[in-house]
Amino acid sequence: MTTFSVLVIDDEEDFVTTLVNRLQKRKIEAQGVTSGEAALEALAKADFDVILLDIKMPGGMDGIETLREIRKRQPQAEVILLTGHASVETSIEGMNLGAYDYLLKPVKLEDLLVKIAAAYEKKSTQDKS
Ligand SMILES: [Mg+2]
Repeated sequence: MTTFSVLVIDDEEDFVTTLVNRLQKRKIEAQGVTSGEAALEALAKADFDVILLDIKMPGGMDGIETLREIRKRQPQAEVILLTGHASVETSIEGMNLGAYDYLLKPVKLEDLLVKIAAAYEKKSTQDKS
């Protein structure tokens, strides 16, 4: 079975920990960070197939700024945005910047896993062509 790598970026630490554990149980290489700045460090060290990115993060780098950096540094990665109802417009901006899709929070873990698998499927199809 081929495995793939996922980076989870969200300021909610519990969410990141839970999701990373669930992915690892499925033999997916998963790593989690809680800020845009930490995401840049992770991107400098490894390539990711799928990146989950929270739109709303406190501190220096918000989701859209982080997305712009991801697109520059790892354009091959499929990015799934996580968004609250209040920031759907921002998600559409993110889609225009090349994100794969977005999901509304709170999101069911099962839905997230399905979306991650679909994003990876799309990426591996493109890699072959
Ligand atoms: Mg957040």
